[in-house]
Amino acid sequence: MTSNDAIEKVTIIGSGPAGWTAAVYAARANLNPLVFPGRPLGKDLLPGGQLMLTTDVENYPGFPDGVMGPEMMELFFKQAIRFGTRVVTDDGVKSGDDASTLFLPYQNVESVDLSKRPFHIVGDGGFEVDSQSVIIATGAKANWIGLENEQRLAQTGGGVSACAVCDGALPVFRDKELAVVGGGDSAVEEATYLAKFASRVYLIHRRDALRASKIMQQRAFDNEKLEILWNKTVSDVLGDDMITGVRLKDTVTGGQSDLPVGGLFIAIGHTPITQFLGGQLPTDDKGYIKLKDPYRSTTDIEGVFVAGDVADSVYRQAVTAAAMGCKSAIDAERWLAEQGIE
Ligand code: NAP
Repeated sequence: MTSNDAIEKVTIIGSGPAGWTAAVYAARANLNPLVFPGRPLGKDLLPGGQLMLTTDVENYPGFPDGVMGPEMMELFFKQAIRFGTRVVTDDGVKSGDDASTLFLPYQNVESVDLSKRPFHIVGDGGFEVDSQSVIIATGAKANWIGLENEQRLAQTGGGVSACAVCDGALPVFRDKELAVVGGGDSAVEEATYLAKFASRVYLIHRRDALRASKIMQQRAFDNEKLEILWNKTVSDVLGDDMITGVRLKDTVTGGQSDLPVGGLFIAIGHTPITQFLGGQLPTDDKGYIKLKDPYRSTTDIEGVFVAGDVADSVYRQAVTAAAMGCKSAIDAERWLAEQGIE
């Protein structure tokens, strides 16, 4: 299925807080944005992004009683649709009432050609489109261990999470014994953060030395509530509706043991979603897209803008992603006006 002959003014790739916020701003600027939201239950780009895998969101301003991650993304989506945003599905481009749910067969982007304008974008369902400007808001996916029970409990609010800052302060984790997996700065930071609420935090690391910076390591060693379990990996997550513990494997002896915990936080890094770019934009050493100017959303290619976690290895919060989405739409609008495209 191919697009009509019209050249889009702005095409947004991704549908997390950055993508939908860019869409709201672009739509209200009469740019008639087109969004490739990603595949439902997609392994990489997922409609709604990483928040679709979160339960309660308590730190997004404007929701004093908190909101479930998927519900919040549905609200973002509806707001973007309300102002005329169009979305690419396997059944064509939808808008208004025809795009009333986040669970349509939306297309992901397979490849883009950014070598000349208009840019050419190819969807994984065969939809192709030319666009004067592109906003890349594909995010970064949290790395998971890859265990079946880990995924099941993460998706059902069963006490497994890849974001302690997002979920750690929830009542369900208060005064419990919790576990964090990883040995980098994120794992130590998350373990230290969780120790404020938990009765005890186990930091489970696969080696006998942390990767985290020395100052973070010292913080972990000094924290009396924090215990590091060296040379251990998690081989299974225990519990039916709610986690009751983890099964550990000793990486030196091969021995197995069970550790009862009331929450598990995975902090083994993130992977920005940039594969479809085929290296056309420069990235930093961790694979995040480099901004041309750290205060803007511009990139090395004129007319290509980025927003959200795909260009942010530091904050990775819904509110910071939404803010970048806003910047990217305003940058695109101004750039299009400079080109005489309104
Ligand atoms: P990271 O530095 O890549 O560390 C990932 C950790 O997870 C490593 O310890 C790694 O073990 C472990 N790991 C990876 N795959 C695993 C698996 N399958 N099973 C078990 N363990 C696994 O990632 P990060 O901690 O998210 O940090 C990312 C970047 O952000 C870093 O540059 C970091 O310095 C920075 N950061 C800074 C701060 C801060 O300064 N406050 C806070 C957070 C992050 P190995 O060590 O054995 O490889």
